[in-house]
Amino acid sequence: PGHAELVIVYHRLPYEEYRLNGQIQRRRPQSPNGIIPTLLSFFADGRKGSWVAWAQHEPTDGHFETHTTVDAEGYPRLTAARIPLQKEEVDIFYKRFSKEAFWPTLHTFWERASFQEQDWQVFLNVNRAFAERTAQEAAHNAIVWLHDYNLWMVPAFLRELRPDLRLAFFHHTYFPSADVFNVLPWRRQIIGSLLQCDYIGFHIPRQVENFVDAARGVFPLQVLEQQNCAPRFITYGCAVGLDNMAKVIDTGMRQVRLGAHPVGLDLDRIRSALNQPKVQKHIQQLKQEFQNVQLILSVERLDYTKGILEKLNAFEQLLADYPDLIGQVTLASICVPAAREMTIYDSLQAQIEQAVGRINGRFAHVGWTPVQFFFRSFPFEQVVAWYTSADVMWITPLRDGLNLVSKEFVATQGLTNGQGVLVLSEFAGAAAELKGALLTNPHDHADLKQVCHRALHMDVEEAQSRLRELFEIVHHNDIRRWGDEFLEALEQSSTQPQG
Ligand code: UDP
Repeated sequence: PGHAELVIVYHRLPYEEYRLNGQIQRRRPQSPNGIIPTLLSFFADGRKGSWVAWAQHEPTDGHFETHTTVDAEGYPRLTAARIPLQKEEVDIFYKRFSKEAFWPTLHTFWERASFQEQDWQVFLNVNRAFAERTAQEAAHNAIVWLHDYNLWMVPAFLRELRPDLRLAFFHHTYFPSADVFNVLPWRRQIIGSLLQCDYIGFHIPRQVENFVDAARGVFPLQVLEQQNCAPRFITYGCAVGLDNMAKVIDTGMRQVRLGAHPVGLDLDRIRSALNQPKVQKHIQQLKQEFQNVQLILSVERLDYTKGILEKLNAFEQLLADYPDLIGQVTLASICVPAAREMTIYDSLQAQIEQAVGRINGRFAHVGWTPVQFFFRSFPFEQVVAWYTSADVMWITPLRDGLNLVSKEFVATQGLTNGQGVLVLSEFAGAAAELKGALLTNPHDHADLKQVCHRALHMDVEEAQSRLRELFEIVHHNDIRRWGDEFLEALEQSSTQPQG
């Protein structure tokens, strides 16, 4: 066994590596969300740990460092265990196969999925490499926290190598109903692997239920509803949040516990962004730019799951049906491009650009452009400036595991005493928590348009009261609580006697 009492297994390193003049350099992750800093914070007290991730290894690189320190001052006993992958393996494992086979299926777009047996073999090899390295790193009885569907098969390999470990898995994306999940040719292997864990977390109860259903279809299992773990209702002032929906599956070999843990935000990051003079300046610029219109904001990655085209079409119809809005509203759409290797997004990009061109061509007049389209990624601080300036945040995924953008908007508006209105798709995991938002069905063209119209006309009192309620939830259920509750649930589950 190795030395680590807690092993984080994440496809990415907790810092970013880049090449400068042939040398590998490191910098803090540009990753916008707070998950990596939160996971790192578990090592701030000097806990012995390891962070297992891949790092690119070119055949011409020569010596490959298998271990590096992460931050000797902040996390004195944490090392990063780097798994050497070649660019081609990364492209297949992460950018192509995961995005073309698993991502569409998980998000219920299974007809877009393509399944290649040879890519699955690469996926297995990479997962085996993660398991082998984790087995070397973990101390006896250590806790291993695995992240996301890229690493679905790690538990199977790891359990064989190290039966003593306590394994937990957090599923960061949506988990579909059994009917859809079962489309995957490797469904049995995947479920079988996940059931080697002691604890599995998802964002919301629906995803837990879907997993249980899928597991039941594949193996004869006993599901012990909430035995020994009463559902916890989290109460925030007047608002009642999520029942964390503990469930236990008895596989005959072990009891696997399941729970819902929607990822939260690090509000301090937003606070500190708001305190930066350059962000304040940007907010002033945006206020000036949009002083004569209501600003509808849309922020997402370029992905068919996000409902971008549906939103643009609804916006076009909104302007057609309500000509009084012409010249009075602007839709600013920030759309983050996919990596170059992900060619499945090319045609969607073309369709979106066409729609933007069509709408602007049809309605624009001198001094006013209906859709301002930004096809690039902004630094998080700039996105915060946009959140501050928006009158309506329009978030329309056809399917989304959670959706951090919705929470970030609420947090930013809450911290700046704003009165912005959140319009959120019912199909985003976050809608299970953010019930005070105006919920919309992005599959229903008329509903998309009507709910946006309603948001634009909401009176100030209602907007403020909805925002207060939403802010309380986002404030209470922050990223710190997410991490602590997950580890606590895991620790509880692994003290149960195993069958
Ligand atoms: N984001 C960003 N710059 C941009 C657009 C988005 O930093 O130009 C961030 C945004 O703040 C959020 C994340 O990207 O933290 C998107 O997370 P979300 O859960 O909404 O969607 P995902 O892309 O993970 O499906």
